[in-house]
Amino acid sequence: MAEVLAGKNVVQAQTGEIKTRVEALVARGLTPKLAIVRFGQKPDDLAYERGAKRTCERTGIACETLELPEDATEDGALQAIKRLNDDKSVHGILVMQPLPRQIDATRLRLLIDPAKDIDGMSPLNSARVFEGDPKGVPPCTPTAVMEMIHHYGIELKGKKVVVLGRSLVVGKPAAMLLLGEHATVTICHSRTVDLAGEARQADILVAAIGRARMVTRDFVKPGAIVIDVGINVDPDGKLCGDVDYDSAVENASMITPVPGGVGSVTTIVLAKHVVRAAEASSAPATLS
Ligand code: NDP
Repeated sequence: MAEVLAGKNVVQAQTGEIKTRVEALVARGLTPKLAIVRFGQKPDDLAYERGAKRTCERTGIACETLELPEDATEDGALQAIKRLNDDKSVHGILVMQPLPRQIDATRLRLLIDPAKDIDGMSPLNSARVFEGDPKGVPPCTPTAVMEMIHHYGIELKGKKVVVLGRSLVVGKPAAMLLLGEHATVTICHSRTVDLAGEARQADILVAAIGRARMVTRDFVKPGAIVIDVGINVDPDGKLCGDVDYDSAVENASMITPVPGGVGSVTTIVLAKHVVRAAEASSAPATLS
């Protein structure tokens, strides 16, 4: 019988610590604040924003949303980011992605202040994560994968981990974080030959491909740990992961559900990153 790795246990364990850190900052006259930049009103963005706001309320973090029109000009968007960079009351900036097509993601990533970039968009943060520099802020989702792994005491050293997906926001940074903890990591993608065969080599399988229920028991070595990052809506309108849970669970020793798995940990990571940015903003300046 596989152990179900519920995100709520991770959230519960972390909420108290984050609240304590927020209280310490507030006692020094500094309320950590998150600014969310959203383009238009996409239901996925609104759902994520609601979750982020709930977590902020629960932990004492201030949160405001800057809503820009879906057809905002690139200059308008960049000006908005610049204003938030310059606003001393804001410690963390979350830009909802994917960005509208007319906005050059590279220009935005280069502009966002790395010190306020709590979702690992800035090239400086990417570089630091790839260098294994702890000053780097990784995107929240791969960090949530690591929080799951740590919370449930999963050993990484020497373990074979296969990451399905190589996006800049999930697959690649997840692979670097896992590598940093001495796993032997294979990254797979849409041109991988024999995806299931590669996946079956894994002691720990991380699925982040955006394909509803594609990862079946054939992808899972008996006894492997399965971490599902995917968030998809199936043809019946039901939320599901990249893993076919009912099938994969037959072989897995541990498995994350969707919903209630990695996705539910992402907003607590977001809160943690805002607190970390606020703490750093009030720390004595160091060469970095
Ligand atoms: P992207 O679409 O940016 O990347 C998908 C990756 O999967 C690509 O590297 C792609 O390969 C690979 N891929 C796609 N189809 C296949 C296939 N048939 N076989 C093998 N590889 C394939 O998605 P994201 O990385 O942004 O997101 C991945 C999943 O995670 C999605 O389900 C998304 O909803 C979810 N997600 C969850 C979050 C959370 O908080 N839990 C937050 C962000 C995302 P290639 O590079 O070759 O195209």
